[in-house]
Amino acid sequence: MAHTCPVCGFAELTQPPYDSTGCASFEICPSCGTEFGYHDANKSHEELRRRWLAAGTRKPFFEAGQTRAEALRRMSPHLVADVYLYPTADGGKQLTVQPGWGCPCACSKSSDTVFYDAWPLLEAPFAPGERRRLGFVFLSGESLSGEDSAAILRRAGTFYLWEGRFIGEATVVA
Ligand SMILES: [Zn+2]
Repeated sequence: MAHTCPVCGFAELTQPPYDSTGCASFEICPSCGTEFGYHDANKSHEELRRRWLAAGTRKPFFEAGQTRAEALRRMSPHLVADVYLYPTADGGKQLTVQPGWGCPCACSKSSDTVFYDAWPLLEAPFAPGERRRLGFVFLSGESLSGEDSAAILRRAGTFYLWEGRFIGEATVVA
């Protein structure tokens, strides 16, 4: 079931931004880039919406009328990495990720690390505990292009996937 972004109105979020207990999804809206539980931790949705509208010329990352899984299938990866999703018992995700899923990635697990919004090019669902070689595309931020983000993670060699906590790691192969 699809859910609507409270910031920009994008109607194809895969999870509700907040569940019935108030837990954030940590899903990144592919239209406005809001990550629920992160960008809205200190700013209201109204404030984020004003900023998104003020940015004006920023195009949605994905075209309207396309699902993310479809859009991602047409994109060429910025980098390729061997990804390991931590098993649920080791602090990994509870749920299998579906094509169209994205998450922030960081070069280290230190508390001052920088996150880059990443979209693995998944052809099929990917479960906690599994390993898979995946292409990644990166969202362009305000000051950094997707290529720049990919170059930083490629130099690091290993990077970590975040969804409220570190839920997996990846070794760059290309
Ligand atoms: Zn949005």
